[in-house]
Amino acid sequence: MPSKPRRMIDGTLAPAATDGERQNPLRAGIESDRISDPCSIVLFGASGDLFKRMLLPALWSLRLRGILPSGFALIGFARTKYTDDSFRTYCKEQLDAFAPDGSKPQGELWDTFAQSISYVCADFKQLAHFQELKRRLAENDERFGTRGNRLFYLATPPSVFPGIIDMLRRAGLDPRSNEQGWTRIVIEKPFGTDLTSARALQRTVQRVFGEHDVYRIDHYLGKEPVQDIMALRFANTIFEPIWNRNYVQSVQITSAESIGIEDRGNYYDNAGALRDMIQNHVLNLLALIAMEPPASSDADAIRNEKFKVFSAIASPRHEDVMNMSARGQYGPGKIDGAKATGYRQEPGVSPQSNVETFAALRLSVENWRWAGVPFYLRSGKRLARKVSEVVVTFKPIPHRLYGESTDAIEPNILVVKIEPDEGVALRFEAKVPGPKSHIRSVFMDFNYGTGFGFHSPPAYERLLADAMRGDQTLFTRWDAVELAWEIVMPVLDVWENTKDFSFPNYPAGTQGPQTAFTLLPDWRAL
Ligand code: NDP
Repeated sequence: MPSKPRRMIDGTLAPAATDGERQNPLRAGIESDRISDPCSIVLFGASGDLFKRMLLPALWSLRLRGILPSGFALIGFARTKYTDDSFRTYCKEQLDAFAPDGSKPQGELWDTFAQSISYVCADFKQLAHFQELKRRLAENDERFGTRGNRLFYLATPPSVFPGIIDMLRRAGLDPRSNEQGWTRIVIEKPFGTDLTSARALQRTVQRVFGEHDVYRIDHYLGKEPVQDIMALRFANTIFEPIWNRNYVQSVQITSAESIGIEDRGNYYDNAGALRDMIQNHVLNLLALIAMEPPASSDADAIRNEKFKVFSAIASPRHEDVMNMSARGQYGPGKIDGAKATGYRQEPGVSPQSNVETFAALRLSVENWRWAGVPFYLRSGKRLARKVSEVVVTFKPIPHRLYGESTDAIEPNILVVKIEPDEGVALRFEAKVPGPKSHIRSVFMDFNYGTGFGFHSPPAYERLLADAMRGDQTLFTRWDAVELAWEIVMPVLDVWENTKDFSFPNYPAGTQGPQTAFTLLPDWRAL
């Protein structure tokens, strides 16, 4: 007998359950996500790449999943000339192009969603345009029941962040002037380009917003397998007793891409791999692996523990930088059999560029749990394969029992797979069936997609919904951002002041520069 149609949390009809949902016992009893607070979202930079490819599809998907409240409105804010109507048409075109199959904008749901979209054509330097924004927000409160709640999302180049924040204050759009509801701000990465600029941006932010109003986004933290690191550690008893210097030999954290810099040459040639990936994404992964169990799942309890990890990492002395780091830059090569351009030949890049497209570091977390355990971090572009993962390598066995066998006995490793595969794998040694004692490595492999019968939602969906709910757990607190900059600054200083004459030092499509293997000979192959 067909089951009764389900209603979503906002009362609309839910799509029929898939076979996977009906049959998978792992999904039984899982409740729908909590609906977000009513609010207006103001998208600064609504004509840009991030909005069309990520943010708009994420909002539309939240609408489809019933997580957006009925009291919702979206205001685009940028210089490109749109009217409300032409911006709605633009949004529909972008969703036609970027929303996943099966969620294209159509029907009654789209019509209602489209009505809640409007646009302010604005120069970020004109106070009058922010006053117009204020008027529109008040109108939305009346029309859509958004109750004075405002979420400002900065999806513009970071150079204009301070100007926008200052204008919000001058137009009376700051939290202190909002007597009716909440006012929050989401700030895209990068938060500063070095320690000095990050502190300057923070001074501007805190003149207008309290820390509990600020959502510094690192979309890596919204990925399900990243969130699952905590569940793996703290919802199981078997890992935690061995999660320390007594059992762990080393930790490798990799975030590798096979793509190059695409059309972001101007940005990337002023940033490099250390700023672009290690200072934020990769260090945040390290914090989740190394942190102590928080006292609760409360945002600040978790962020306190992450802060303590960063406090325990000594920033390297300038004279030690070359021994604890490796850098690389890709030259021409091949990716999947196709020719790939070298970095210095990419548009927007200086032909003599000294900027690294690969960075690797060895850090140590100087505390009771981790003293003496090296943490190796690497990230790069145009490598052999796209892969993000954490590899925890355990200590070798203390005594070899299989004396007559010459088989190598590999240490156990636990692999947390983040991208493109999502899951957890444990390598252990097993006896090959037969009369002889041959030992081989085998894997126990859990994959989220097959395990739970669905793939995790894109990170931006989760993060936008959390910001609308006021949950800061997956957003980075200022004290951690500041410490992360302090950790990488000596490396940035030394690298910027010493040209690497071997650049380019790895062909596109390979395992990275040889210097990375001097730092650590047994990186897991990409
Ligand atoms: P784009 O250059 O594509 O878009 C920038 C947006 O800001 C446009 O809407 C532009 O619109 C507006 N803008 C730019 N300069 C000004 C200005 N002086 N005054 C007013 N408006 C301006 O950038 P992205 O969308 O790629 O990136 C936006 C932010 O998101 C950046 O901080 C980036 O680091 C971050 N980010 C982007 C990712 C991506 O995949 N694209 C991934 C992770 C982070 P208009 O010209 O119409 O005003």
